Amino acid sequence: MQILLTNDDGIYAPGIQALYHVLCADHQVMVIAPDRERSAVGHAITLHEPLRASRVALNAHYSGYAINGTPADCVKLGLCEMLTAPPDLVISGINPGANVGVNVNYSGTVAAAKEAALFGLPALAASVHSREGVHFEDAARCVKALAETVHHQGLPRGTFLNVNIPDIPYADIIGIRISRQGNGVFPDAFEKRTDPRNRTYYWQGGDQQVFDPDPEIDGPALEANYVSITPIKCDMTDYKALDQLQAWSWER
Ligand code: MN
Repeated sequence: MQILLTNDDGIYAPGIQALYHVLCADHQVMVIAPDRERSAVGHAITLHEPLRASRVALNAHYSGYAINGTPADCVKLGLCEMLTAPPDLVISGINPGANVGVNVNYSGTVAAAKEAALFGLPALAASVHSREGVHFEDAARCVKALAETVHHQGLPRGTFLNVNIPDIPYADIIGIRISRQGNGVFPDAFEKRTDPRNRTYYWQGGDQQVFDPDPEIDGPALEANYVSITPIKCDMTDYKALDQLQAWSWER
């Protein structure tokens, strides 16, 4: 199949390179990724400066286009301008650091897959459960298999998959769990410090989420050494609330 591959860590990141090598064995892969790290930019797009695509060829085995924009820009520009035909699948990753629970809202990795889903294309976002990404090759092997399943089965229009993989050898992965997005919060999101001029500043970075002990939630599934797959919809309407609100008597 034809695959558009992107990420939020930049075109030179090891996660996207590992995935590229594994996917290329059986598929046509076009890499269009940010020219630098853009983690946690969410679904931002660039409106106030020009976007440029630069051809990057690291060696005979890895090439693509680096964009001076966000992950969502890469997908949008790729689909609207750079690809001659829509790809069969868009993949974003592999991100070092799980995108589970509230992280899903901030993640550039997830937003790139969401952008593809807005275009009606099947997509998946892939992350490993560690900042180091020791087992990117093993994770890439999982992503390739999942991608082929998604291509075979299809996804509902406007829905994409958020995939998180334990950072362990392939043989140690127990299986796959279809999970819900958790809603645990960051307990220590900020460190308060003092600069050399005695002014207070804050450094944001807490990423240890606290999960409900529910095996059907993404984070706990991952911590139990399962691949966690959560289907996510672009339509964020709360249909239950919509029905309730329509029953209220509204004053205008
Ligand atoms: Mn990232």
